[in-house]
Amino acid sequence: MKRILLIATGGTMGMQMVEEGKFDPTSFVDEIFSFIPNLSHVAKIDVLCPFSMDSTDIGIPQWQELAQLLYSNMDNYDGFVIIHGTDTMSYTACALSYMLSNLSKPVILTGSQRPLAALRTDARTNLINAIELAIGAISEVCIYFANKLFRGNRTKKISIDEFDAFSSPNYPPLATVGLNIERIAPHRRPNGLIRLEEKFDNRVLGLIASPSLNPLYWQTLLETDVQVVVLKAFGAGNLPLGNQSLIPVIEGCTQQGKLIIICSQCMEGACSLDLYEGGQRARAAGAISAGDMTFEATLVKAMFLLGLFDGNVQRIRHHLSISIAGEISSHSGPN
Ligand code: ASP
Repeated sequence: MKRILLIATGGTMGMQMVEEGKFDPTSFVDEIFSFIPNLSHVAKIDVLCPFSMDSTDIGIPQWQELAQLLYSNMDNYDGFVIIHGTDTMSYTACALSYMLSNLSKPVILTGSQRPLAALRTDARTNLINAIELAIGAISEVCIYFANKLFRGNRTKKISIDEFDAFSSPNYPPLATVGLNIERIAPHRRPNGLIRLEEKFDNRVLGLIASPSLNPLYWQTLLETDVQVVVLKAFGAGNLPLGNQSLIPVIEGCTQQGKLIIICSQCMEGACSLDLYEGGQRARAAGAISAGDMTFEATLVKAMFLLGLFDGNVQRIRHHLSISIAGEISSHSGPN
């Protein structure tokens, strides 16, 4: 029988509904098998709970703990399922996909919009299907949610209240689950021995451009030790050029050795700084494009590369458009 390591980290799936719409944490780990007794028919499942928290508190230390757990157990199991809160699941999926190269086993994050203990819940099917997929052959860091298996670093949480809460705007699902499991997009394959890179650097800031934004607020960036700014610009990577122009701040950042990475406020498509004057001027001032990476993938990649290159921002400039784990399409960057 196949062996699965199920890692529970918190989030709604394990919560108890105390009244309609209000959730409290529970000691969920002991109860999983009482909710889904026949899970043990699918695989031999060991359960670990390294921490239990709302996913908004999950960051670098938890990513490192999870990656070490996966790495040290890689030979002991056929696949891994991580139960995780939905709010930051995409960020954790990005981090794990960058940290663990040459994965040869599936690592599937899942969660739910309603707790496992609720009568009408998406938790049961998400968990059962994630476990079935984890004994399969798609050896990537994935997110399974609402009948779709996604490449994790391509995903975004898109709904607060729909069961269909995740989307992968620029890459098709790896598989869909109906009566049968249908493989759709090609998945990655290992190309050598598994490797673990654990360093991150959090001197990275996500910002959003908005109409009539006072650029003076942005000047304060120059007084901080922020090294990389991931800026959600308009449309294809466009920025205002009139009185509210952000170009002088981008120039100031570049002069200080900081890097501005431009991604889009749109869900779909790749940023192209060539298309409009706002993008062209931003590029001339030193900014680079995130291509078709999501905001989540870009931000975590900047933290990862900054850690990997010991704070050397200029190396990120050259590596940002190179795929680490399929998070960017080769034709989409760096313009
Ligand atoms: N607040 C929860 C979390 O992300 C939401 C969820 O699990 O769906 O931990």
